[in-house]
Amino acid sequence: MTTHADQQPSHEPHPTTRCALCQEHRALRESHIVPNAYFRAMKKGSNGKLISMDTSPDSVAMSSQDSLSEPLLCAECEERLCKWETPWIRKLRVTAKQFKAGVDEVAVKDHDHASLKCFLVSIIWRASVCSRPEFSEVTLPGPVLETIRADLLAGNAPPDGVIGVRIRKLVDPTGQLGDLERFVFTPARFSEGGIQGYRLFFAGYVVDYLTLRVTRQVAKIRGFLRDASTMSMPSISCFDVREFMRVGRSMVRKHVRGQTAFKGAPAAR
Ligand SMILES: [Zn+2]
Repeated sequence: MTTHADQQPSHEPHPTTRCALCQEHRALRESHIVPNAYFRAMKKGSNGKLISMDTSPDSVAMSSQDSLSEPLLCAECEERLCKWETPWIRKLRVTAKQFKAGVDEVAVKDHDHASLKCFLVSIIWRASVCSRPEFSEVTLPGPVLETIRADLLAGNAPPDGVIGVRIRKLVDPTGQLGDLERFVFTPARFSEGGIQGYRLFFAGYVVDYLTLRVTRQVAKIRGFLRDASTMSMPSISCFDVREFMRVGRSMVRKHVRGQTAFKGAPAAR
């Protein structure tokens, strides 16, 4: 296990290489795997305090001091992703604020299925195609990656038959853990109740990427992204999410006690 404090994003231009999304040979940007808009928003909203963790099965909770980037996409493709990220990071923050005690579902304003699905799928796609060790557990099969790539490039939501997405707001019924929006866990495999895939914690949400064939039954689970004009965001207690408790417990406690000394370091772009 390594920490990556020495891998701050470089601001030198990268040599021209193949962009992972458009596959053209172009100068690559330092691309964030977890959207940089999120890191920027966290920086603004909480004095830059950010906790990100490696959730590989064999590692203990780890703090990462950078915002997890590598040369991956050209400027044009970065822009493509930005079009989904910027509004959705904002919308998810607004939605998160509406979860008060006793509220377990909130209507998402101006829901646009395609852009939300593109936004969320782009994160797991980036995690799978990047070479950072923090994301090495994410390995989507080649044909799945290629379908997702082509769909994202064309601006289409990848179909449920390729990847299904479920999103729920993580809530802390005790109010003891502080701001859950600050926690990012790198995606890890999960399997429960007949569904499996990868689970990502970020921005106060738990996002499940379902890599098994999505049946009609699965498409009915709470928080499953459906191609519809409205969306109701359900909540789930963080105490009911095994992975969150397993990885997060010690770190969260330390953080609440002020024993953690690391900060988010968004790229200076
Ligand atoms: Zn490109």
